[in-house]
Amino acid sequence: MEAAEHALYEDLRRRGIDERILQAMARVPRALFAWGLDHAQAYVNEPLPLPDGQTISQPLVVARMVELLDLHGGERVLDVGSGSGWHAAVIAQLAAEVWAIERHASLVALARENLARAGVDNVRVLHGDGTRGWPPEAPYDAINVAAGARVEVPRALEQQLADGGRLVAPVDDRLVVEQRRGRLIERQGLEGVRFVPLIGAS
Ligand code: SAH
Repeated sequence: MEAAEHALYEDLRRRGIDERILQAMARVPRALFAWGLDHAQAYVNEPLPLPDGQTISQPLVVARMVELLDLHGGERVLDVGSGSGWHAAVIAQLAAEVWAIERHASLVALARENLARAGVDNVRVLHGDGTRGWPPEAPYDAINVAAGARVEVPRALEQQLADGGRLVAPVDDRLVVEQRRGRLIERQGLEGVRFVPLIGAS
């Protein structure tokens, strides 16, 4: 492992990120998903540029969001806003299957290439509007939203959450965790975060 990569995991460890999450990240090195950057830059704890004005999320935020999904290995997961595919790749190390949906066709192609290069074979990247979820494979045990919603989590996503399932999303620049309990949705607001906007029909 390179020095910059090692330093990143040390930093995340100091910030309280669980060992399981760090191991998952190390299996899918961020440099394989960082577009046109040299390797050392890929391991800074900051968002990185992607084509179409989008960004690969900050490692600490990805780690926190994956931790909040509370994955145990058997889950079927929906990832909304897959960008480079890195966040989906980390989730895929801790779950059974991931459906990742992205609205920019160029990024769909990029994520597929990146995931293949990283040897990740349990993520399917779909082109579409993730605010509608992906009904053919619903319900999901976990839903990750990697673009910032305004006011509330899209209703379609809550509807596609399995009983007991968890959803993590940035809403009005704050991380929100939701858990379905039968017909009820429990909601918890957590720390502040900055994301590119979620743009879609609902
Ligand atoms: N998780 C990504 C980074 C996400 S940036 C990574 O690890 O690289 C947010 C992404 O959400 C962008 O690629 C943007 O195009 C996408 N996005 C925004 N609104 C969307 C929507 N309604 N459906 C699907 N993707 C969307």
